[in-house]
Amino acid sequence: MTTTTPLRSPDAARRSVTRSATTISAARPLVAARDLTRRWGRGSTATLGVDAVDLDIAAGSLVAIVGPSGSGKSTLGALVGGIDRPTSGSLVVGGERIDGLKNDALARWRAEHVGIVFQDFHLLPTLTAAENVELAIRFADRRGHRSSRRSIAAEALGVVGLGDHRRRLPSQLSGGEQQRVAIARAIATDPTLIVADEPTGSLDQATGHEVFELLVDLRTAGTTVLFITHDPHLAERCDHVVEMLDGRVGGVRSGAEAPGAVGTRHDLATAVV
Ligand code: ADP
Ligand code: MG
Repeated sequence: MTTTTPLRSPDAARRSVTRSATTISAARPLVAARDLTRRWGRGSTATLGVDAVDLDIAAGSLVAIVGPSGSGKSTLGALVGGIDRPTSGSLVVGGERIDGLKNDALARWRAEHVGIVFQDFHLLPTLTAAENVELAIRFADRRGHRSSRRSIAAEALGVVGLGDHRRRLPSQLSGGEQQRVAIARAIATDPTLIVADEPTGSLDQATGHEVFELLVDLRTAGTTVLFITHDPHLAERCDHVVEMLDGRVGGVRSGAEAPGAVGTRHDLATAVV
């Protein structure tokens, strides 16, 4: 994936919605996890973060991951987003088998293909909004030019409504604005997948809803979005809801906006969303 590709304008994003919605299909999963397991320690003292999960996530869908604290939501998100590696099992994301990648290769793959958004923003405090975004672009495309990074970062900040704030430091931005910068950083590399781990968890409800709308817009533009949340109302607005319980997928259901054709494929014992 190249960062010289311009970001889609909101208009282009809207035009592409019909096309991406009709191609949503469980037969074309962006994410395919089989027997995916993340364990710390051994024997009777081992902790299982994710326990033998089988899950397909269709390309272009907005999927909520819900469940009690400690149920494995963040661990699953970290595995799928290439932040962490499984102990066993296989994981294919965007056609690439990532479970066996070494740290460096996984970091490169992640920089090029995934955008990550955290609850507490994770912006570098001494860099401006634009510089935070430019840095992510540099990781994804080390050969690109500074001028192109600048214009892509400015465009990404414009998409999240922060075009006028690009020279501000994180400390000069509200929580909601900082999360918008983090989203700009996530989309600036034109990722196929966004993993957002409780991105609204540190925000007041109204601001959280605004951030969620940005994720909905991204899905509308064709990006697959994994949205980890504790907010049942926002979860219901996603295409699908995956419920985690004790490191396993306890259930999968369609959200309010789900296209009717997809669901759980019980015959394969694989949760398909
Ligand atoms: P959630 O995001 O649903 O709250 P997590 O994925 O963070 O849950 O955690 C799932 C389980 O894995 C918990 O029991 C947690 O204590 C454990 N866990 C997570 N990260 C680590 C780690 N680095 N070392 C040991 N145990 C961990
Ligand atoms: Mg968590």
